[in-house]
Amino acid sequence: MRAWRFYGFNDLRLDEVPEPVCRPGHVIVEPLCVQPSVTEAQLAFGVRTLAYDKIKHRLETEAPVQLFGHEFSARIIEVAPDVTGFAPGDRVAARAKLPCGTCPLCRSERSHLCRRGPIIGFQLPGCFSERAILPEISLVKLDDRISDSEGACLQSLSDSVASVETADIAIGDSVVVFGQGSMGLECMQIARLSGAGQVITVDVRDESCRISRELGADHALNATQEDPVAAIRELTGGNGADIVFECAGGSPKQGLAGQKTVMQAIDAVRSGGKIIGVSWFGQPLEIDIDTLRERSLRYLFPDISTRGHLEHTVHLVASGRVELKSTITHVLDGLDKVPQAFEITANKGKYQAINPAQVVLCR
Ligand SMILES: [Zn+2]
Repeated sequence: MRAWRFYGFNDLRLDEVPEPVCRPGHVIVEPLCVQPSVTEAQLAFGVRTLAYDKIKHRLETEAPVQLFGHEFSARIIEVAPDVTGFAPGDRVAARAKLPCGTCPLCRSERSHLCRRGPIIGFQLPGCFSERAILPEISLVKLDDRISDSEGACLQSLSDSVASVETADIAIGDSVVVFGQGSMGLECMQIARLSGAGQVITVDVRDESCRISRELGADHALNATQEDPVAAIRELTGGNGADIVFECAGGSPKQGLAGQKTVMQAIDAVRSGGKIIGVSWFGQPLEIDIDTLRERSLRYLFPDISTRGHLEHTVHLVASGRVELKSTITHVLDGLDKVPQAFEITANKGKYQAINPAQVVLCR
């Protein structure tokens, strides 16, 4: 079969590789639609971000290596004899992080919290290939109402579900979301379903603000046209918002907001309120801890997303409560388009992409 393999950063080649062989607890799938995550796309070009050192080490010691491809929808074509929950023909998506099975968390039936197991696409081959082997415990079945394209977004959506759960929104809380990229739009929609009162979003692109309003934001502020912090304070009666999600930060080299939106999030939240840090930065940030201390701010980071979160995304999308279609801006056709998807996803600002670029492998 054909699979994309990395020979180094910025060196991706479509190779002929052996077919995966099914083993106990596993299934063989045919990927239907796959997208690089933003982190994967940045790592592909050697941008220092989450897991950079681990990937660098694998490339230096194991190349050529099949990397990435944990955001996908796929159809099962074979199951191991001990797999009972799935059958050939089922469409599935997967949770990327797997439990190790042996640590104290795994042994005490809290394996969903384990961070010692492998991650699909990082330690295990993902789905930038014609076929893939996946562990049964990572999988959820897709509802017929979910398209292949939407299915490829569920693993990232499950991180947004975990982010909103971490915020622990009380009914009526005012919520601000900085950044209306894919995760920002997801957090906004899930916050609305989870008791939020007034929902205010901030972006620098008119198109993202338009989609945000369409998907339910009460106010979508364009930070290039007005001071978002002043506007948020005015809309929340002077105090600031109860909860602020920071989904815009990241390296300015990739067209992201850098540290600026972190500072704005701190200024836009009310004293005693919560900031949920969703973004990755790839470098240390300088933050005045005394300000957080003086204002009793809770700067929280999302819990790890569980299989339960992934199952919840199936309900959210199948029932139409979360809308993904308008965020999917780039869909490419065929396995040979994978490098183009990496290029678009690593430079979403330049290509005006919202969701990562998707590649349809099979119809
Ligand atoms: Zn474990």
